[in-house]
Amino acid sequence: MIPAIQKFVRAADAAIARAYLALRREQNALMPFLFHSLFRDEREMDLNLVEPLERTTVAQFRQFVEYYLEHGYRFIGPADLLRGLAPDGKYALITFDDGYFNNTLARPVLEEFKVPALFFISTNHVLQNKCYWWDVFYRERTAQGASRRQIYRETVGLKGLRTDQIEAQLIARFGPSALTPRGDIDRPFSPAELRDFAASPFVHLGNHTADHAILTNYTLDQVREQVQTAQLALQEMTGITPTAIAYPNGAHNPQIVEICREVGLKVGVTVRPHKTHLPLKPSSSDLLRIGRFCPNGDDPIVTQCRTYRSDLQLYGAFRAGYLRLLRGQIAQ
Ligand SMILES: [Zn+2]
Repeated sequence: MIPAIQKFVRAADAAIARAYLALRREQNALMPFLFHSLFRDEREMDLNLVEPLERTTVAQFRQFVEYYLEHGYRFIGPADLLRGLAPDGKYALITFDDGYFNNTLARPVLEEFKVPALFFISTNHVLQNKCYWWDVFYRERTAQGASRRQIYRETVGLKGLRTDQIEAQLIARFGPSALTPRGDIDRPFSPAELRDFAASPFVHLGNHTADHAILTNYTLDQVREQVQTAQLALQEMTGITPTAIAYPNGAHNPQIVEICREVGLKVGVTVRPHKTHLPLKPSSSDLLRIGRFCPNGDDPIVTQCRTYRSDLQLYGAFRAGYLRLLRGQIAQ
């Protein structure tokens, strides 16, 4: 979405939320959240190694956890979802997408507050120690002097391709070492690190396909292969068989959901910013299409946390309208 409009809608939502929550109590619901990279501090962000959308510092993440605990939310893991959620509670689900090594910074926070989180891993990145393409694109185009807005527009264009096609383009444009990580900030976990990380009782792993495949760009046979390969790789690396998948970029349709179900996945998360209403039954088809809010490090965390609690929010509707009108997409 155009940043100025996005900013305006978010500010309006923040004002509405303040008024709404002063007058009434929010409805009980499941509030799922999506994070990507974690940074020690702002200085690490300013290195421009990782695409800046939705990036968060450890201090902001900690504030986020504290906020929801203070407001009576219980953080849940995938097993709680499979048992179903009763209507008499307020629940939050923390998820991290992609498999960045920097996600290890979350572990001390999770252990301190004893809250679980679900980490969705793109397995070929881990197996091949390869950068995520959007970070490479951001790093290289920033070095060439392109503006954030220009890079964003070009990134949206690339999202119509398969990952192997995008990576081939990046190598042709920026050289053979384009996909090589520059350090701990932009690299994925190694298989051994992932196994150690997952040994924490507060860490749960999920499927994010083998190649971070935007599944709507793949044939159905390729979709099955992407999802199955990631299941097997996670099993081999960590001994864990995931029950949940995060569709990369949220891209899914009924056939993709059906394939995930056949592969044995029971929970699917998208990037559509919305609450899940309760009760959530284990048999509910909603379990394979759970939306997520995406806190970002550029705005005050407490304001964002309060806004998500409101039952009146414009942002989701604006985002869906924008995607439909300007990009011909159905919001995922
Ligand atoms: Zn992702």
